Amino acid sequence: MSPDFCYFDNNATTQVDPEVVDAMLPFLREQYGNPSSIYGLGKAARKAVDHAREQVAELIGASEEEILFTSSGTESNNTALLSAIQLDPDRKHFVTSTIEHSAVLKPAEHLARRGYAVSHVSPSREGLLDADAVAQELTEETALVSMMWANNETGVLSPISKIADKVAEQGLFFHTDAVQAVGKIPISVHDLPIHFLSLSGHKIYCPKGIGALYISSRTRFVPLLRGGAQERERRGGTESVALIVAFGKACEIARKRLESDMLHIRQMRDAFEALALQIPGAQLNGHPTERLATTSNLSFDCVDSEPLLMLLDQAGIACSAGSACTTGSLHPSHVLMGMHLGAERARSALRFSFGRFNRLDQIEPAVQTLRKTIEKIRSLHPRTAPLGASPALAAVPPRAE
Ligand code: PLP
Repeated sequence: MSPDFCYFDNNATTQVDPEVVDAMLPFLREQYGNPSSIYGLGKAARKAVDHAREQVAELIGASEEEILFTSSGTESNNTALLSAIQLDPDRKHFVTSTIEHSAVLKPAEHLARRGYAVSHVSPSREGLLDADAVAQELTEETALVSMMWANNETGVLSPISKIADKVAEQGLFFHTDAVQAVGKIPISVHDLPIHFLSLSGHKIYCPKGIGALYISSRTRFVPLLRGGAQERERRGGTESVALIVAFGKACEIARKRLESDMLHIRQMRDAFEALALQIPGAQLNGHPTERLATTSNLSFDCVDSEPLLMLLDQAGIACSAGSACTTGSLHPSHVLMGMHLGAERARSALRFSFGRFNRLDQIEPAVQTLRKTIEKIRSLHPRTAPLGASPALAAVPPRAE
């Protein structure tokens, strides 16, 4: 990778921290024991898994016995949702939001096919979810509520404490997908009536393929994977010791560096936005302040995000599009559409997400490249409205979608 390569897609995944690699390597080389084996090599692996569990628990203010290791954030979400609904099979209603990750929306679709009623709460135009709107959806039939803590596309933070309180007033299960929030904001689960919280390693400088689910000690639980007695019989399957060790280390580093990392990342993000929002026709998507320091989601009038993304890639800048291209057609992001920003704005959205290994001196040249690339696309494919008219365009009311 060229030294000038700008990896601005840290919400998609992160570079593994070299300290994390160092921590896991012995468990790929010499310490290959199975934690269930009772001789020395196995006991060493067990000790390492136990230590990692403490490190994960400490990052979110949980107790170690409340941490279940999984393969991913996706597995954690599925496990929480399917466990909660099985605990109260007579209740057939599930409440979530329109802007969740597919790792919640797809299980929700699955439940709907099995006869569950699913309510999707909508956010504001700034991507904020509202606790009262959630409370209004709760009925005697509701089994579970799942609301994400931080949105992966906009970084907008949910009022999780208020939502959890409203759900607790009705005595219902509450799950939060905190995959994007963990390690980026202080989290203390014991101060909140949360039953389940999902985490994922690869968003915090750990390799992919490892996640965890916080299960409150007050909560009953039904396993998703049945097999051996691993994870106190809550998830069968031999533990991936090296990945668990890596995750523990990544959580320890995230806890120790939370403040300094976020200061550094916020500085880059703010510098980026100060310059990028000067590009004619640029608009911020998502709440300006109630948001992770890591994330900047911008739309550029009259520019499709896909060609922009590809040209930026050629210029050494990695970011992600607010739209996904399948079988040749563009699908605007369900998150931006859920915020009622309109298909046009959603189709021209790019997400830039910053991380620990980015540098402030990358920002200015990257925005220059971004500006030039946008100008090039606009000159080659003039789409519609005159450029330089961003304030007026921003004031145009959204199209009804
Ligand atoms: N939830 C959110 C909010 C995410 O951003 C992601 C990953 O992008 C996931 C869940 C899925 O996590 P994993 O990739 O570990 O399955």
